[in-house]
Amino acid sequence: MKILFKKKYFFFRLAKSVTNSRKQLISKKGWIIKLENNEDNKIGFGEVSPLYPENIKACEKDIALIPDYLERSELLKQIKKFHPCVQSGLNTALAELNGELVFDREHRFDKIYQSAILCDSENILDEIYIHMKKPISISEPITLKWKVGIKDRKSEELLLEEILNLINEKIRLRIDPNGTWNREVATRWADILKDIYNLDWLEQPLSEDDLEGLNSLQKKIPVALDESLLKHPHLINKWNGWQIRRPSQEKNPIKLLKELENKKAYRAISTSFETGIGRRIINQLAFLQLKGPTPKVPGLALKQTPKTSLFSNNAELIWDKL
Ligand SMILES: [Mg+2]
Repeated sequence: MKILFKKKYFFFRLAKSVTNSRKQLISKKGWIIKLENNEDNKIGFGEVSPLYPENIKACEKDIALIPDYLERSELLKQIKKFHPCVQSGLNTALAELNGELVFDREHRFDKIYQSAILCDSENILDEIYIHMKKPISISEPITLKWKVGIKDRKSEELLLEEILNLINEKIRLRIDPNGTWNREVATRWADILKDIYNLDWLEQPLSEDDLEGLNSLQKKIPVALDESLLKHPHLINKWNGWQIRRPSQEKNPIKLLKELENKKAYRAISTSFETGIGRRIINQLAFLQLKGPTPKVPGLALKQTPKTSLFSNNAELIWDKL
């Protein structure tokens, strides 16, 4: 079977920049891709969407190697040599092309409590205050994600104290130092937070390579791995705690789909700031996650997502307009 391969480059500025302890993200680049089967005119869309800008060059080089028209078997052979983000986009498009993935446009997460809100670290107290005043008619808690390791340690600990004094059962917290704490700081925060009902998890509290430290911290408090899974993907089969899973950064998101279909626990779905095309599989997987044994709202960074046609839930429309 011959496949027609098309690609379009995209660039957008986030509606709100994201600052973490390592870097600031203000824009995003990548490619949306379209595969067409010449026999029955079936179509599959995918997105190559590296989270880290330093991976753009490697993805560009790999995408340039794919001919416009090729045998499906040839593509399947080539795919394994590509950057994980290129593999992710191609595998998603192939799965849609062969009917393994059928997207449901009704899987939307547009209500405020349906996705974790990525807070602005400067104004987190104000944000918490606003969300605590939400109407009584909304019974679901609001999940807030707080990026730490940005300011000095003392002032962040004081802020933590203020946050814990302020929140009630309407707020859930995810705290993410993006791997920049040392064991001493992580242990101190774990001691403060270990009996706090509102905490979902500490996300990547220690460096991605400090698995011994992460394992021992996990005995005290829920620890979610994020950067560790990107650097050491084999941990997906080993880590029994929470896993922040980013479909666009994994070689084959269909494996994650199968894990969720098989009711694997402790998988939380996260965006890497994709367009509406990449968002389709994220929504699909997040919807499945919520039906699993450990439901948790996904991290979709909706506040940071621009409101243009590039983020529509209609893949054809995004393709035509770009
Ligand atoms: Mg994270």
